[in-house]
Amino acid sequence: MEAYTLADQEKLYAKVQETLAKAKTNPISEIRKKKSEEDVLFLEQLPVQGFSKKLHQYSKLPFQANGLDILQINVGYLCNQVCNHCHVNAGPSRRELMSVETMKHCLAAIDLGGFSTVDLTGGAPEIHPDFKWFVQEIAKRNVKIIVRSNLTILTFAKEYEYLPLFFKEHKIEVVASMPCYTLENVDKQRGEGVFDASIKGLQLLNSIGYGKEKDLNLHLVYNPGGPSLPGSQEGLEKDYKRMLKENFDIVFNQLYTITNMPISRFLNDLKTQNKVEEYMNLLVDNFNLSAVENVMCRDTISVRWDGTIYDCDFNQMLHLPVLDKQLQNIKDFNAEKLKNRTISLKNHCYGCTAGAGSSCQGVIS
Ligand code: SF4
Ligand code: SF4
Repeated sequence: MEAYTLADQEKLYAKVQETLAKAKTNPISEIRKKKSEEDVLFLEQLPVQGFSKKLHQYSKLPFQANGLDILQINVGYLCNQVCNHCHVNAGPSRRELMSVETMKHCLAAIDLGGFSTVDLTGGAPEIHPDFKWFVQEIAKRNVKIIVRSNLTILTFAKEYEYLPLFFKEHKIEVVASMPCYTLENVDKQRGEGVFDASIKGLQLLNSIGYGKEKDLNLHLVYNPGGPSLPGSQEGLEKDYKRMLKENFDIVFNQLYTITNMPISRFLNDLKTQNKVEEYMNLLVDNFNLSAVENVMCRDTISVRWDGTIYDCDFNQMLHLPVLDKQLQNIKDFNAEKLKNRTISLKNHCYGCTAGAGSSCQGVIS
C-alpha cells in the first residue's frame, strides 16, 4: 500500500475517486485470503497454549453466543488514510465496497434480528457512495446507530461537509480513533497531517453539540503505539479530557481503550521487529477469565462488504466466517440460530481477554 499522507490531500482525493470509479467489480483477492490463512496458521503454531485449550481448561467450551445485540456492518475497506496498525488493511486503493443489494439484506436482518445497535465501520464508512441512503434507511428502524469515523473524512473534501449535521439529525453516536493527544504520536501511527485534521473534525463536532448535548455522543478510541497493553481506561480518559480541553477546547464523552490485535498490519509490524512471540506471551500471561464472558462475539455479528457473516471484525479480517455454513451470508439471516452459534476461536482471541479485556466498546471487565 502506497504511504499516502493527508498532507498530500489532493493526490489522495484523486486516488479515492479513481478507486470509486473502479469499485463496481468488488474483487475478493485470493492473495489476501491466502495471506490471512497463513497468518492464522502462523499464530496457531506459536509456542503458546492454544486459546481453545485455555478455555477448555476453565470449562468454557463449547463457547457460544448468548444473544444478538449489535449488528456491525463493514461497508468496505476504502479509506482516506493508511494507518500503521489498521487491522482492516484499509486504504485509498481498496476496491471492496458493499453493494446496495447486500445493504438491503442487512436492512432485512435489522427488521428481523432484534438488534439494539447498528455499528457502521470500514475503511471510512462515510466514503461509501450509498452511505447516506443506507443510514437514512437504518434510521427508520428505531435502533441506535454508531459510525466509526476517522474524523479526517469530515474535512477531506467538499462532498463530505454535510456529515456533521447529518450525524446530528440522526443522533448518530460517533466513535473516533484518536490514539493520542499529541501530534507526534498520532501522525506517527496514522500518517502526516492526521492529527491536525482530527482536531478540526472534533472541533466541528463540538461546535454542533457533540460531546456536550444529550444524545450526541462522541467517544474516542485509544490503542497503544506499540506491542504493549493499554493503560487504565479511566486514567487515560482523564488525561485525554484534560489535555484536549486545555490545548484545543475539545470535549468528548468517553475514551475506549483497545488492545492491538496480532493480525494484519500490526502482525506484520511485529514480525518485522521480531516481536511476535514476545507480544503473544504478553497477551497469554495477562489472560483474564472475567473478560471471557464479555467478549463482543457473544452478542455481536460482523458483516463483510460482500454479505459474509463473522463472529467479529477480527475474524472477518482473518477470513474466518461463522462456523455453520448455512449461516454464513446475511441474505440467509437466521436470528435464532445465530443467537446460539458456536464461536470460531483462534489464538488472536487472546487480544480480547488480556488485562482488562478489549472490545470495540473498550474494556470489558
Ligand atoms: S485505522 Fe481506520 S482510518 Fe486508519 S486506515 Fe484503518 S480504517 Fe482507515
Ligand atoms: S477475536 Fe473475535 S471471536 Fe475471538 S474472542 Fe475476540 S471477539 Fe470473540
